[in-house]
Amino acid sequence: MIEVSETTAFMIYLCMTLGPLFGLWAFQHYSGRHKKVDMTSQQLFVCEYCHFCYLDHLSQPVTRCPQCQSYNSKK
Ligand SMILES: [Zn+2]
Repeated sequence: MIEVSETTAFMIYLCMTLGPLFGLWAFQHYSGRHKKVDMTSQQLFVCEYCHFCYLDHLSQPVTRCPQCQSYNSKK
């Protein structure tokens, strides 16, 4: 049997409990950094019917409101 001191056992316990938490935090932290809104290809539109603000691509002449599903034209 492997003999482990109390300090070593406590350190192994801390590494096994805090290691996955740190891994989850690091994953969430670094994956969230890539989700930037690209404002160069998108523009803020306001729905003519429900006044909901949403982002859509500039290249589309007609956009669709994500809340009321109405079509809005560029002004
Ligand atoms: Zn709308």
